[in-house]
Amino acid sequence: MAGPVSTMALDQYNDYIEHMRKEQFPMLTDALYLDHAGTTLYSKRLMERFQADMMSSLFGNPHSASPSSQRSTQEVETARITLLRFFNADPEHFDLVFTANATAAIKLVMEAFREQQEGFWYGYHVESHTSIVGVRECATDNRCFGSDEEVDHWIGQSGRSHDVDQLRLFAYPAQSNMNGRRLPLEWCKRLRQLGGQQRTYSMLDAAAYASTSPLDFSNVEAAPDFTALSLYKIFGFPDLGALIVRKDTAPLFQSRRYFGGGTVDMVVCLKEQWHAKKASALHEQLEDGTLPVHSIIALKSALQTHEELFGSLDRVSAHTARLAEELYQRLTSLNHANGRPVCMVYKHARAIYGNVNTQGPIVAFNLCDSRGNWVSNTEVEKLASVKNIHLRTGGVCNPGGIAEALGLAPWEMRENFSAGHRCGGENDVLNGKPTGVIRVSLGAMSTKSDVARFLGFVDEFFWDKAAQPLSARSSATVQTTAVQRFHVESLTVYPIKSCAGWQVPHGAPWPIRNEGLAWDREWCIVHQGTGKGLSQKQHPRMALLRPSLDFNAGVLRVSAPGSGERVAVRLSKDPSYLETADYAHRNASVCGDLIKARLYTSSAVAEFFTKALGVPCTLARFPAASPHSPSLRHSKAHLQQARHKAGVPRPILLSNESPILTISRSSLNRLNEQIKAKGGKAAHPSVFRANIVLAESACLPPGHEQPWAEDAWQSMRVGGEDGPVLEFLGGCRRCQMVCIDQVSGEKNQEPLVTLAKTRRFDGRVLFGVHTALAVEHGGGCSIIKAGDVVEALARSDTFEGVDSAYRKDA
Ligand SMILES: *Cc1c(COP(=O)(O)O)cnc(C)c1O
Repeated sequence: MAGPVSTMALDQYNDYIEHMRKEQFPMLTDALYLDHAGTTLYSKRLMERFQADMMSSLFGNPHSASPSSQRSTQEVETARITLLRFFNADPEHFDLVFTANATAAIKLVMEAFREQQEGFWYGYHVESHTSIVGVRECATDNRCFGSDEEVDHWIGQSGRSHDVDQLRLFAYPAQSNMNGRRLPLEWCKRLRQLGGQQRTYSMLDAAAYASTSPLDFSNVEAAPDFTALSLYKIFGFPDLGALIVRKDTAPLFQSRRYFGGGTVDMVVCLKEQWHAKKASALHEQLEDGTLPVHSIIALKSALQTHEELFGSLDRVSAHTARLAEELYQRLTSLNHANGRPVCMVYKHARAIYGNVNTQGPIVAFNLCDSRGNWVSNTEVEKLASVKNIHLRTGGVCNPGGIAEALGLAPWEMRENFSAGHRCGGENDVLNGKPTGVIRVSLGAMSTKSDVARFLGFVDEFFWDKAAQPLSARSSATVQTTAVQRFHVESLTVYPIKSCAGWQVPHGAPWPIRNEGLAWDREWCIVHQGTGKGLSQKQHPRMALLRPSLDFNAGVLRVSAPGSGERVAVRLSKDPSYLETADYAHRNASVCGDLIKARLYTSSAVAEFFTKALGVPCTLARFPAASPHSPSLRHSKAHLQQARHKAGVPRPILLSNESPILTISRSSLNRLNEQIKAKGGKAAHPSVFRANIVLAESACLPPGHEQPWAEDAWQSMRVGGEDGPVLEFLGGCRRCQMVCIDQVSGEKNQEPLVTLAKTRRFDGRVLFGVHTALAVEHGGGCSIIKAGDVVEALARSDTFEGVDSAYRKDA
């Protein structure tokens, strides 16, 4: 099989992969996987081969004399040699150390240098992965090289000065994991040729590079001293890393002080503390403890299968280069109807797509709308997720590369950090600049149809072919006077954060406070291991847990569908209940905020939630009210943060949490008309998880509804002249969660797909409005009820004003 695969023309090869992967990569059915730089995928054949191997032999723990142990040892040593040969590395000159991942390989080298008497000097390239950057913390002195030219210049200079007496280590990526740029491999050779009193060692981070490109160590003099690899990025399985090390660096590792099982021959404890380190092979000195034997054995199957399915890494390299070139060219030539570009691609000046020496199969970019504003990457990721497209966004573990590509100065990164931005956070456009990229990375089993499907996705959601103002903006009716045609259709509280809602009975007076409706998000569910609050995004089954408030019995009941099981906890916060053995005060982290929650330790409660959700968890109650601190007046003080951080306008969009969420039935009806016009499934109001649903008079003639009127409202008075005023804080950003049916837990593409096309404002998809009791109520408590009339107070400025308020936040 390997024969024909390695000689096919590229077009034929693409067709072959397309066909082959249907059978060999069944998990790709329907999915568009574009994160091969994160990890590539394992084939059916590889898993079956590995399984057969495991079933047919007895493998013991190496390091002993039994036949099963000897067999394991043999297999491990064979895998080691086979892998070295895969990289054309002569075992005479190179050793290979198995590690957990590339980072562990880098750390092994760092540890050896850290143990040197004189310490060491460390240089690294700005486009390095975080794991390479971190080594600097252990060096006595370090330098970050801002460009290839700086490195070239430094190597040239170093050749002339022979007076350095400190060990030096220079590390860089063979390929950037951010934009796929390939860096000059010849630096390793040039550093070796420098000679001098103390050598400058080279460490090549080949984790990204080796995934789609052959590494060739046949020229021993040109090879790096240390090469870090992520084997799962090449083969998809097993989850292993490796360090390829030149044997002549062995003396460096002599200063290693730690020893563990596996790396010593004899140890004496008590009086005479003495040990004999293994002196034979480098890998024996460095592989502490039991090796991941079964994973290493799986490498045999991985190597064989890779060759059968893909031919060679040369083939993979040529194939993926062509796909990336096409993707790059199509993305860069895409313009909105008004001529503005759709994509800003971060290509290095030295890189050329299609040229495998300078560029790997990764495209990093950001999207712009037709007005030239950045589209938020969180938004792109949400839509991709609905379309079953798997890509990565954000800082992608490449701090220097990101800063360079996005033009972020260190102060801006610090400022972004203190403004609440974290890797993977929601606020990815700050001060008008994106804080991360969209990364599309291709792999051996990618095909032309993947590229086409991704371009179709960009076309569908981000390419403005009319380049007209968005429909939502033009259809909004600007109200300049107060309108009184709406009423409160229903009130819903979510007693347990992220679980199902409980509808307040029609007409029942309900307290509303600064932090929201009474009993809303009073409890949450906390993971027993991590202390993290669980959310529906990771645990969709939470939607099926139904809390109900029973004031007569004084309990909150929770039922789980299907099982018929129930659990009840007391509503009362009376301290005499709380000091019982059923509670423990614990730190919990909810939406990134650390709070002191009271955990229910009763096994009945914990078991109920653990069984219902399939993760070890229990119920927790948010902190108790403290009469001394005004900001902690209420039990859900953390929910108020968004309001306290603020000046005006309040940056409510910085937080996932707001006191109250209001939606309009008229807007929902309009949205559902648009969805149904395209043959989609209408959205149930429950997917928006609103607290207040507003509706217009049922007596209005058809077509007289005012959808999206709420966009222009500044506040509303509920329940007549003496009723409380609720302020509108800003539109509510939506994600793929609105696609989860709250009754069945089923996933759908709507309503997010239609929302994304009709309700996007500066890259944010908005539906519903964050709402809070107006400040004039000064922390008081008011009453509202379903059925109350609603008087809308419109903004004095135009709808454009609403829009620019969003922009300030962006
Ligand atoms: C993935 C990657 C790493 C980290 O690899 P791990 O196996 O996760 O430790 C380091 N550098 C580059 C260039 C990578 O792509």
